[in-house]
Amino acid sequence: MTMSILISGAGIGGPSLAYWLGRLGHRVTVVEQSAVLRAGGGAAVDFRGDQMALLRRMGVLDDIRAHRTGMGDQRVVDTTGRRLTTFPSVLFSGEVEIDRGDLARILYEHSRNEAEYIFGDRITGITERPGGVEVSFANGTDATYDLVIGADGLHSAVRALVFGAEDRFRSDLGYYVASFAVPNTFGLDHTGLIYNEPGRYVSLCSGRDPEHAMAGFIFAAEPQEYDRRDIAAQKSIVARHFAGSGWRTTELLAALQDAPDLYFDSLSQIRLDRWSTGRVGLLGDAAWCAGPGGNGTGHAMLGAYTLAGELAVADGDYRLAFTRYEQAMRPAIEKSQKFAAGAGRFLAPATTGQLRRRNFTYRILSSAVLSGLFTRLSSKNANTGEPAPYPLPAPATA
Ligand SMILES: Cc1cc2nc3c(=O)[nH]c(=O)nc-3n(C[C@H](O)[C@H](O)[C@H](O)COP(=O)(O)OP(=O)(O)OC[C@H]3O[C@@H](n4cnc5c(N)ncnc54)[C@H](O)[C@@H]3O)c2cc1C
Repeated sequence: MTMSILISGAGIGGPSLAYWLGRLGHRVTVVEQSAVLRAGGGAAVDFRGDQMALLRRMGVLDDIRAHRTGMGDQRVVDTTGRRLTTFPSVLFSGEVEIDRGDLARILYEHSRNEAEYIFGDRITGITERPGGVEVSFANGTDATYDLVIGADGLHSAVRALVFGAEDRFRSDLGYYVASFAVPNTFGLDHTGLIYNEPGRYVSLCSGRDPEHAMAGFIFAAEPQEYDRRDIAAQKSIVARHFAGSGWRTTELLAALQDAPDLYFDSLSQIRLDRWSTGRVGLLGDAAWCAGPGGNGTGHAMLGAYTLAGELAVADGDYRLAFTRYEQAMRPAIEKSQKFAAGAGRFLAPATTGQLRRRNFTYRILSSAVLSGLFTRLSSKNANTGEPAPYPLPAPATA
């Protein structure tokens, strides 16, 4: 049975789901609030372990490899730039790493013939009726769909409209993250540098694009009051928390003032008892955001595959499909959320003692003798088994 399905969000989960649903013959529309798809760049995301099989199954692995960052090991340095320890590339960059914007573009390219994409619009109202879901859009139009899926990220509008206000489901981990691109005047060549002070993390890395480096800041803080559209306010929060920090921080804070592409958010998790109600479901960060280290990208793509697969098996019984999708995904999500809850403490330990212990542990773990064990440990949460054998069409490119 074919259905009309609206997906909110053209990030990672949305286009992945559009791809599979379109290949199954459903009429798919994707609405994305940004006026254009971001061309490239942004924070890097990685895949490892069993996630590679899903990329192969979807037919995107070759494209992802062609755009890999090729990021190597990253050095933790002191204020003079002297190396304290090394984080092996597998820790942050997995088996293949790609800039999030490049991945979003690849997923869009693979799905654009399977779905209608609408950019620069968003859902403003959702009303479920017995025969379908009535949706109103910010541009003033209305339409009815058989199903609506919210793949619109941590601050999901679909979740807010149907399940309730974000603060009921969001728990903040006590850290904030900021990143933006800077000219690569640091001589970085497929590598990164990390500098810590208690509760603070500053990083610089450059991979695929030798002209640019990404500057990253993570800091421990009480909840900050700010407007998510007010970029100047976000820049001053970062500047305030890193004022007086050592290493190259002052120079990076100066660059921050002119950065046109600042990403700033809390490290937060989303927890809901159910990821669907009636004809509306959630996918990816909208449903289960875990934060850095929580396999958010791989899980958004696996969730898309699983939801499409269960809809195919249930042949129109969307309630059954939503239930089975949730049963299939929950165990991996819970493991990843548990792991990612410690990401802030790992990246920006609270005391000099904790920083020293972390660096010492990594000196041991990244030694040649233990590198196999290290690779296994860092892939543990990504290993969710081979993708289930759903009756989904083979990739068009296979
Ligand atoms: C600092 C940081 C580092 C990370 N590093 C990694 C990593 O190394 N590896 C990894 O696997 N994951 C990483 N993640 C997580 C990863 O980026 C996300 O889990 C992943 O992008 C989730 O995909 P998604 O499609 O659910 O949401 P998103 O990628 O956030 O996409 C949501 C989309 O919805 C759009 N949207 C938002 N609101 C609306 C609306 N109202 N209407 C229409 N569209 C809307 C947005 O513009 C966006 O295009 C990291 C996250 C952060 C914050």
